Amino acid sequence: MSIRENTRKLLQTMPDGVFIVAAAKTRTGIEISEAIEAGITNIGHNYVQEAENTAQATSGRAKLHLIGHLQRNKVKRAARLFDMIETIDSAEIARVLNDECGIEGKTMPVLIEVNSGREPQKSGVLPEDAIALAREITQLNHISLSGLMTIGPLAGDAEMARPYFQTTWQLFRDIKKLRLHEAEMQYLSMGMSDTYVTAIEEGANLVRIGTAIFGPRPAKA
Ligand SMILES: *Cc1c(COP(=O)(O)O)cnc(C)c1O
Repeated sequence: MSIRENTRKLLQTMPDGVFIVAAAKTRTGIEISEAIEAGITNIGHNYVQEAENTAQATSGRAKLHLIGHLQRNKVKRAARLFDMIETIDSAEIARVLNDECGIEGKTMPVLIEVNSGREPQKSGVLPEDAIALAREITQLNHISLSGLMTIGPLAGDAEMARPYFQTTWQLFRDIKKLRLHEAEMQYLSMGMSDTYVTAIEEGANLVRIGTAIFGPRPAKA
């Protein structure tokens, strides 16, 4: 099936209030354009460089989300380019991003990335550290806390992912209940092509979908 057909079908199955972020790593500007023309309104990038390379294809027609780890030396470019950063995982990166957003004269919506599977090699904060980071973020004027994001362990099927989605949803609810100043806690970003149905069942309202839109990724060179 084509990108257009994949996208249309997916959009039809999305419940009200659930939004797709098309995960665009390794895809060309032409492919991204095709998804946007079929109705995608959010594009997710893992790398600042890839986002810059394809920004012209997007140019104002979709919001750009950073869904990969944010490196300190890329913060300035990220602040300029993105409409949402889904991967805040330290107070330090939050402060640096806040400063750069101030320089850009914008307020950036951000999500805290939660390492729900407690995997040592993964980025994201451990669940028990998320509330402290949420409090730090709400002290800053140029980034606004909009929710949480998790990837979770990638092994196996959607049922194996469910407990990690549940953990993250509980945390999302707990932080929302704190009613932190300036925190909207509007978005819970969970689920990918193989797991988005389960993620939505467990409360996701942003789903990051790559393969089911664009087809299998080319093997790494
Ligand atoms: C690649 C990627 C996705 C989408 O993965 P698919 O399995 O292709 O749908 C979602 N989230 C992140 C962070 C990714 O890197």
